[in-house]
Amino acid sequence: MAEAPRTCPLCRVTIDPSMGPLQEVRFSNGPGGTRIKLWARVCQFVQDRGGCINADAAQRQTPSATDFYGDAPAISFPPTQG
Ligand SMILES: [Zn+2]
Repeated sequence: MAEAPRTCPLCRVTIDPSMGPLQEVRFSNGPGGTRIKLWARVCQFVQDRGGCINADAAQRQTPSATDFYGDAPAISFPPTQG
């Protein structure tokens, strides 16, 4: 049974496991992607805030160069409080 879609409170990106591992990450626009790509582009920069749903290293592999650059749109981070 697939997990329900979840939206990361830090990245504002939805992870929908029912879409499959290659498309499960739904960026605000553009094509779906992988948890690896999401982590490479967004999550690694917000880890110190805590609460990221993509923080589990067991659920991703080492990102490759194509995970850092390419077709995914830029994501603006939510403003830091305080
Ligand atoms: Zn995240």
